Amino acid sequence: MTAQDYIRSYYAATVNDQTRYPALEGTVKADVCIVGGGFSGVAAALTLAERGRSVVLLEANRIGWGASGRNGGQMIGGISGEETIKQQLGAAGAKFVRDIRYRGHQIIEERVAKYGIACDLAYGWMEVAARPRHMDNMRAYVEQRMKDGDGDQIEIVEKSRMPEVLGTQSYYGGYIDRRSGHLHPLNLCRGEAAAAVSLGAKIFEDSRVVKLSGGAKPWVETARGRVEAQTVIIGGEVFDKFGQSGLKGLMLPAGSYIIATEPLSGSETASVDPQNLAVADSNVVLDYFRMSADRRMLFGGRCNYTNRDPKDIAAVMQPRMVKVFPRLKNARVDFKWGGTIAIVVTRVPAVGRLSPNLYYFQGYSGHGVNATHIAAEIVVDAICGTTEKFDLFARIKQIQLPLSDQFGNYMLGLGMLYYRLRDLL
Ligand SMILES: Cc1cc2nc3c(=O)[nH]c(=O)nc-3n(C[C@H](O)[C@H](O)[C@H](O)COP(=O)(O)OP(=O)(O)OC[C@H]3O[C@@H](n4cnc5c(N)ncnc54)[C@H](O)[C@@H]3O)c2cc1C
Repeated sequence: MTAQDYIRSYYAATVNDQTRYPALEGTVKADVCIVGGGFSGVAAALTLAERGRSVVLLEANRIGWGASGRNGGQMIGGISGEETIKQQLGAAGAKFVRDIRYRGHQIIEERVAKYGIACDLAYGWMEVAARPRHMDNMRAYVEQRMKDGDGDQIEIVEKSRMPEVLGTQSYYGGYIDRRSGHLHPLNLCRGEAAAAVSLGAKIFEDSRVVKLSGGAKPWVETARGRVEAQTVIIGGEVFDKFGQSGLKGLMLPAGSYIIATEPLSGSETASVDPQNLAVADSNVVLDYFRMSADRRMLFGGRCNYTNRDPKDIAAVMQPRMVKVFPRLKNARVDFKWGGTIAIVVTRVPAVGRLSPNLYYFQGYSGHGVNATHIAAEIVVDAICGTTEKFDLFARIKQIQLPLSDQFGNYMLGLGMLYYRLRDLL
């Protein structure tokens, strides 16, 4: 398979660091070899490098080429599947969910400050109620968070207060999480990669892994090179399975799509998103949006339920944006792109060990900016000998669909259609 450059997107057009890392040739040795150069792999590489381990990271295309360089940039507290974690792990699960809620944010903030990563980090995130009944769940959630002592971070917004918060009539209220926010994901990912390299990590682009093995002497092979390591990590939403039965049927790909308008005027910006919040609605098949640092409306959503890309992304997404913000009906669309969200049936990210010295973590169900950084730290901790959180995560019973990927996608398409219909009722 030929390596690909970045797709055309707002992020690729505004990337700060254009470094092209070499392709792997010949044999190299490292303490840890990481497969995949998205947030998961890069965050793990940087954490390992900070702890003095020698690291090789292999990316099939470019750093941040996948979901990490294309997403909505919403840095959202918590991870997907929290209810399942609590159900399966009881009190230990509830504590775990609380303890890690903002750990990814902290890691990102520390790195942005320490390595001077310019990625437009801004605070304020809101979930908005797409149906009146969704407010009940939100009120209960906010009440619980207040009991947990998070009252200074989170507030409920009733419908009567919505005009202060967003210039749309589409929603029935919501809640704001001031500890969460948004950022330029490709610049964060590439900034973390550059930081890892500055600490001695070796990064290779155009280096698709074709085979690998764990065990006593782990190794990884690309078409033209080989890495011999003490530990191998399949880092992130790398859809290749490398013959590992433990990965089969775990993640199903679903398309999600974003448009970016031309830069809006100051008054337009103030009228649609006066508090510069990143916003997601409460539907399962949801819309999400935010303003970029140069005041473009980035409006995204999952709009294929058959897992086939729409012929014209703007033709699908622009009417959705205009429905929410009628005043943007004349805003020109400058960029349109899509990416693949990895859905896990339990919704809990899949974290574990496939054989001795072969780890994996992946499947954030569209909730990966924070969660990738959390999972990367937990796996690196385990490799370095602290296994408490890894053991908890690995105890989650995941569901592997006994289906071919293609059939699994049809099932996912049907599932999404079901949720879309339910959202509409
Ligand atoms: C359109 C869209 C919007 C989203 N919006 C948000 C959001 O607003 N907030 C949020 O929290 N999450 C969001 N997500 C989810 C989030 O982007 C992902 O969960 C996260 O980026 C996953 O990171 P990753 O490193 O695990 O995977 P990826 O970023 O996909 O990285 C995997 C990498 O592995 C490489 N690779 C694949 N196969 C091989 C191989 N054989 N050898 C070597 N390398 C290989 C790929 O080229 C890729 O670069 C969104 C996702 C999409 C697609």
